[in-house]
Amino acid sequence: MYVVAITGGIGSGKTTIANQFAALGIEVVDADVIAREVVEPGSPALAAIVSHFGSDILNAQGELDRRALRDRIFNHQEEKLWLNALLHPLIRQEMLRQCAAASSPYCLLVVPLLVENRLTGLADRVLVIDVDEETQIERTCRRDGVSRAQAEAILASQASRAERLAAADDVLDNQSGTSETIQARILALHETYLVFASQQARQL
Ligand code: ATP
Repeated sequence: MYVVAITGGIGSGKTTIANQFAALGIEVVDADVIAREVVEPGSPALAAIVSHFGSDILNAQGELDRRALRDRIFNHQEEKLWLNALLHPLIRQEMLRQCAAASSPYCLLVVPLLVENRLTGLADRVLVIDVDEETQIERTCRRDGVSRAQAEAILASQASRAERLAAADDVLDNQSGTSETIQARILALHETYLVFASQQARQL
């Protein structure tokens, strides 16, 4: 399966753009969805987390209390490393499994922290959704109702725009132009990926 990874900072438009590829018939695999699936009630990963952190890491429904977990690892580097060592291989394996099972000509893998978690090697092609920082902050504040300071703090915790662009094979400008011009950019990329995917299939 030819895999195109799509990434971008908070509020850059990954979900919006991925939905447009999906409307073209491309299967979308989302790392954030998988990150929740691997810790669903009954999963071995959730059992490991409970035995490590204690059962007060669960909410009343027996699900992982993500806020409580975030608080437990915030400023505790060893705990964060422990959690990442548990979850990252599981998430990676499941992303690959879902991509391999996709039935569209190529598969789109949405990974917000692709650059930060050094996952570019998972994909045949890396597409970066690019907007400037001011646009990221404006769109995030509008969408999530958070303060400018909160949006800036999240931006600061992620890879910089330059770091992300350095990892890109393709860049989609999701800022300039109208929604029609952005749609045309998506279509052009889609056509390119169809060609790359069929070339790869011929080589196999
Ligand atoms: P996150 O990483 O925070 O989940 P994201 O990269 O998936 O964000 P989206 O949720 O797709 O980003 O987009 C962020 C906000 O910007 C949304 O409210 C979306 O409707 C809006 N948006 C996306 N693309 C555009 C655009 N081209 N013009 C104006 N608004 C846009």
